Amino acid sequence: SATLYIVPTPIGNLQDISQRALDTLRQVDWIAAEDTRHTHKLLQHFAITGRTLSLHEHNEDKRAAMLCQRLSDGESVALVSDAGTPLISDPGFVLVRRCREAGINVIALPGPCAAITALSASGLPTDKFTFEGFLPVKMLAREQALETLQNRNATTVFYEAPRRVVETVKTIAKVLGQNRQIVLAKEISKTFETYVSGNTDTVLEYLTVDPAHQKGEFVIMIAGCETSVTEVPPEALQLLTLLQTELP
Ligand code: SAM
Repeated sequence: SATLYIVPTPIGNLQDISQRALDTLRQVDWIAAEDTRHTHKLLQHFAITGRTLSLHEHNEDKRAAMLCQRLSDGESVALVSDAGTPLISDPGFVLVRRCREAGINVIALPGPCAAITALSASGLPTDKFTFEGFLPVKMLAREQALETLQNRNATTVFYEAPRRVVETVKTIAKVLGQNRQIVLAKEISKTFETYVSGNTDTVLEYLTVDPAHQKGEFVIMIAGCETSVTEVPPEALQLLTLLQTELP
């Protein structure tokens, strides 16, 4: 059987497409795209004339079955999303899982991803981090999701829609306190790329001082909590175990 290629595309700056991504898009039999119209613009820009078909959240099951069949028949497929790395808060998981189960070769090309790019420039610790995708839309569920970060000592990275960004920063202040350090990455690789770092007030001030600051694409990062409940010294834990066996 042939290969499924996972092909990341630019998240704002077209120059971020890799030579290998271009070569792959030129060579494959099919380009499976989240939105074919969107992808046509990209292909047109690079004078690529591949055959496209759509694969999005509403038809992924059916398309995955069909593409697996074509791959088994020896046709190669490139999977792209509208921007960045497919499968990262984008369609593709159903297809990749199915291909893996069928023993089809899957190769992912390294490339643009908003979460990783934002994290690397954030100034927050990068040794350990959690990616949360998009927070739930409903308020209660959002608050609950943020509450789980209370004692997390790793950096948290998530995506946010422009219409919710102010509300989300306010909710972070409410749930995690006003002193938690957060970093807002806006319009990465585009003309108005901006990083705002500080407490929730600093970020809210930036967002509200000019309505234009609330437009565009955002990654929000939250610093880990400084003293975690898991950071109990080993001697203390030993003592606790001892006491537990000794005490009635
Ligand atoms: N698969 C993509 C990736 O690898 O980054 C993410 C797709 S997700 C549907 C889109 C979200 O990613 C946006 O709402 C925003 O939160 C984030 N994003 C994408 N491009 C961005 C950019 N240029 N600057 C900041 N955030 C971006």
